[in-house]
Amino acid sequence: MERDDSAAVACFYAETTLETGATVSLNERVAHHATVRRIETGDRVAISNGMGSISRGRVLRLGKREMQVSIDRVERVAPPFAVHLFAPIADRDRMLWAAEKATELGIASWQSVRFRRSASVSPRGEGAAFGEKLRARIIAALEQSFGAWLPQVLPDTSPDDLEPASGLKLVLDARGEPMIDLVSASDSSCAVIVGPEGGIEEDELARLVASGWRPASLGSSILRFETAVTAAVAVVRAVHASQPAFGASPVASDCLFCRIVSHEIPAKLVLENEHVVAFRDINPQAPVHVVIVPRQHVASLNEARDAAMLGELSLAAAQIAKAEGIGESGYRTVVNTNRDAGQTVFHIHLHLIGGRDMAWPPG
Ligand code: 5GP
Ligand code: ZN
Repeated sequence: MERDDSAAVACFYAETTLETGATVSLNERVAHHATVRRIETGDRVAISNGMGSISRGRVLRLGKREMQVSIDRVERVAPPFAVHLFAPIADRDRMLWAAEKATELGIASWQSVRFRRSASVSPRGEGAAFGEKLRARIIAALEQSFGAWLPQVLPDTSPDDLEPASGLKLVLDARGEPMIDLVSASDSSCAVIVGPEGGIEEDELARLVASGWRPASLGSSILRFETAVTAAVAVVRAVHASQPAFGASPVASDCLFCRIVSHEIPAKLVLENEHVVAFRDINPQAPVHVVIVPRQHVASLNEARDAAMLGELSLAAAQIAKAEGIGESGYRTVVNTNRDAGQTVFHIHLHLIGGRDMAWPPG
């Protein structure tokens, strides 16, 4: 008997762009996993691409090597407030457990840190092979929680080589300020360091504090590291959930492009990733005319401070130009700023224009 409930019975991760009406073929890993889960032809399943898109559909065929699904609905999910987690290299199983819980709660990235006290643990989770295991556990957790955003797993590092993240930088320490008081609305993201069993050694901690990491406390009880990981991510989530104005990314509700970014207003979307959203211009000036905007609301180039964001706009333009078949023939990218340039929407955007000859100098 064919089931007709609309709830998906399982969610699978597949790194593909999915569209309503498409039939997708999922790889051996997914087929195997589906077989283990006793999925049958006709079952409703969800597919997460880990990049903010969850598609739902029905299994058309399930074999040993592939599973075919016909997609009937695609839902886009705004990225959660970014939490970058730095967890200690420690006991393997407990690291995997922590990665699973952190994924359920939602983190943007995981990086294992080799603290001095990590060295005394055995067997400890480190190296590329363990990184793959960790990633597999994170994917499983994403699937189990029907998550839309896959945390990135970064290569192991040492306490002195932590990339200075922008945004809030916290290092858990029982003597620090209450973490709940430090997490705040104005941050663009939050990086949290969790030390190893026995704590971060004083000199290691002192160097982190000297490079801008703020000690943050989860209370006076001594937490095992995996408990601390879970609690720290939960604190950030709870603060952001209780103050919705903090939002996933700061948006201006009366801004047209913010409303397109949040799918409140429809647009012909061309590309979406963690940083940018691209859509076809409603009044195209050339055969290809795509508008690329950051998820974050920034009024114009005059207000822009984030070099990486500006870079993401250009890289997205090159990627779309290639996909639209104008990479070789050529295209133009333009940012109009203020009156003389004719800026009409005050949410910074890069126009990608191509598919015809263009005059120079521009008008
Ligand atoms: P600007 O003039 O600010 O550089 O560019 C704004 C662009 O946004 C214009 O090319 C305009 O056609 C486009 N635009 C304005 N409103 C909408 C809309 O609601 N949907 C889409 N897809 N494009 C829009
Ligand atoms: Zn905006």
